[in-house]
Amino acid sequence: MERAPLLDGHGRRIADLRVSVTDRCNFRCQYCMPAEGLPWLEHERILRFEEIARLVALLASMGVHDVRLTGGEPLVRRDFPALVAMLAALPDVRDLSITTNGYLLERDAQALVKAGAMRFNVSIDSLQRDRFYALTRRDALDQVLRGLRLLAGFPQIGPIKINAVAIRGFTEDEVPAFVELARSSAYEVRFIEFMPLDADHAWTPEQVLSGAQLHALIDALHPLEPLEREPSATARVYRFADGQGRIGLINPVSEPFCGDCNRIRLTADGKLRTCLFSLAETDLRGPLRAGADDAELEQIIRDAVWRKELKHHIGERGFIQPARTMSAIGG
Ligand code: SF4
Repeated sequence: MERAPLLDGHGRRIADLRVSVTDRCNFRCQYCMPAEGLPWLEHERILRFEEIARLVALLASMGVHDVRLTGGEPLVRRDFPALVAMLAALPDVRDLSITTNGYLLERDAQALVKAGAMRFNVSIDSLQRDRFYALTRRDALDQVLRGLRLLAGFPQIGPIKINAVAIRGFTEDEVPAFVELARSSAYEVRFIEFMPLDADHAWTPEQVLSGAQLHALIDALHPLEPLEREPSATARVYRFADGQGRIGLINPVSEPFCGDCNRIRLTADGKLRTCLFSLAETDLRGPLRAGADDAELEQIIRDAVWRKELKHHIGERGFIQPARTMSAIGG
């Protein structure tokens, strides 16, 4: 059943859902969580596959056709390919993608592509083994790159995007290698400005290596030409003037793209977040498990989305970092 489009109070039409399927992760990235990890959500609080599928189907019937599966690290969720297959089978889901740290791709790539995953974003912040280890606290770069190569062997999936978090004093030394990777492969490399969503709440603006600074570094190596920005896109994409590939800059801190934001998020424990930086969440798991029908759930969702934040307030006086960390929200 097709329902009316899902609109927020600013006239934006919601079309993109990010679903965090777990808050757990097999990495311990310095800018995300402490070495010992975080207190994980209890199993019974985590949405079951059929609950996720029901909410995704309901939202898709309201025009939210693009679904991205995230975590924590989604591939650590048991039987994750089965969930991918359930969502890929939903008629109104038109784009099904996954954000992963790539560590389990060597094991799962074939099963995920067979299940219907259409696109992949792989998070890699360093192409140097020792620096990768220092940042993620895992000696895993070689395994991630093997998984990436395996994934690239499936012609049916869309362009693989490699996302690198840009941190001042760290990423500058990574730029040449990532630029060469973007120029010598089909991967679309994107740098993402470091955002205040870390577990330690230690983020400072000084740690942000901005898109403009990255653009200058890259352009000095190989001149860039801007490509037209797609509506609601998070990345500003550039082509290398000599035609050798593309590179993207995602600048939520220095160049926010909230104006035409079309995204909402579902957390692993069934909370609806209308913005990455929401300070309030709407519980869907409770009504769902209490027997609410689709009409009741639809109304709860519409009311919450109508109150969707106009924008984030990073860098403004009074900005409050959300209590929930990036690892429990998902990219
Ligand atoms: S910060 Fe919030 S409003 Fe802005 S683009 Fe991200 S999710 Fe959308």
